[in-house]
Amino acid sequence: MTNDPTGRRKPETEAVHRGEGAPVGAAPLTTPIYATTTFRFDSTADFQRYLGGDAERYIYSRYANPTIQTAEAKLAALEGAEAALVLSSGQAATTTALFGLLASGDELVVSSASYGGTLHLVGDHLSRFGVGVRYASTDELARPESLLTARTRVLWCESPTNPTLRCVDLARVASTCRAAGVVSVVDNTFASPINQRPVTLGIDLVMHSATKYLNGHSDVTAGALAGGRTLIDRLWGARKLMGGVLDPMAAHALSRGLKTLPVRVERHNENARRVAEWLEASSLVARVFYPGLPSHPDHELARRQMTGFGGMVCFEARGGFEGACRFYDRISLIQRAASLGGVESLCSLPVLTSQYGLSDEQLAAAGVTRGMVRLSIGLEHVDDLLADLAQALG
Ligand SMILES: *Cc1c(COP(=O)(O)O)cnc(C)c1O
Repeated sequence: MTNDPTGRRKPETEAVHRGEGAPVGAAPLTTPIYATTTFRFDSTADFQRYLGGDAERYIYSRYANPTIQTAEAKLAALEGAEAALVLSSGQAATTTALFGLLASGDELVVSSASYGGTLHLVGDHLSRFGVGVRYASTDELARPESLLTARTRVLWCESPTNPTLRCVDLARVASTCRAAGVVSVVDNTFASPINQRPVTLGIDLVMHSATKYLNGHSDVTAGALAGGRTLIDRLWGARKLMGGVLDPMAAHALSRGLKTLPVRVERHNENARRVAEWLEASSLVARVFYPGLPSHPDHELARRQMTGFGGMVCFEARGGFEGACRFYDRISLIQRAASLGGVESLCSLPVLTSQYGLSDEQLAAAGVTRGMVRLSIGLEHVDDLLADLAQALG
């Protein structure tokens, strides 16, 4: 199958599938894994029904698959968006969105505090196709009108950012972009839709690394996009041709993860708050960054636009890089691993991961110091987490 005969994204159906064809009395509670690349037709009349846009007819899994659509319907509902797409990774979501929306001669405004993969994709690849790129600091994003030119087509940012959890006024970005005809995009990975729903603040498109909180168990690589139906239809076409669709097995696992997202995030929020408060009260660390703390520079903004402050906590160890390394080498419950958003608490040192190899000036511009420690707080008992922090810092 080399062409899409209809060129249309299949509309969402009610819960998408009910185990059609299963023996009577064996209707599954959950959406089965449609482990198939293609779908059978009964007749030419049946094929004509597909061509006519019948939502119950499928042709090829790179275009649409009931297991994948189930995850998409759940995600759209969570984000308060009309429609959503799931993709094979967060990077596939970013690539599909940027290459699907931008053309040669256009300009992209991107937050310089974005995920490293986003910045490398933009700097190393998108720029080769004649797209102009303008990097914006968090302070500049607070006055978004000054960033847009007649050629700007897309503005891309994150809130909260890695690792210091700075926030961007999303309603302001949204209304400024809307007035200028610019597509606003927010990477909502750190917050999750439980804590922040950018579409409800007027943002056009939400991107996720579903590898993190959405799946939540550190065992699936996936990405997602959510937004208005017209925009998602267009990006469905881009996904279909760029090929970054999610596998049905992974889509099933993602759907299962999404079922517990609200209860997981509630516990992530609560554990992270307790950890942040404990660290701030401790004389063993120099500074704590958590948007739920009144000491955080964006606390008031976070209170306005978020319904929870998330599971990420950052702190500055005493003794700079040596102090951070000492902590890193001593933790025992918290695991030394990159990534975030899973059941297990993880620790990484920004100067060895997201900010690796940066000069002192670049680190200062990113607001990152050599003594910084990033924690993704998991679902363990908070007393066990505090005990591990105490022994590792002590
Ligand atoms: C991990 C991550 C990505 C990239 O997602 P992958 O699933 O690893 O491709 C993008 N943005 C943020 C904020 C991330 O944490």
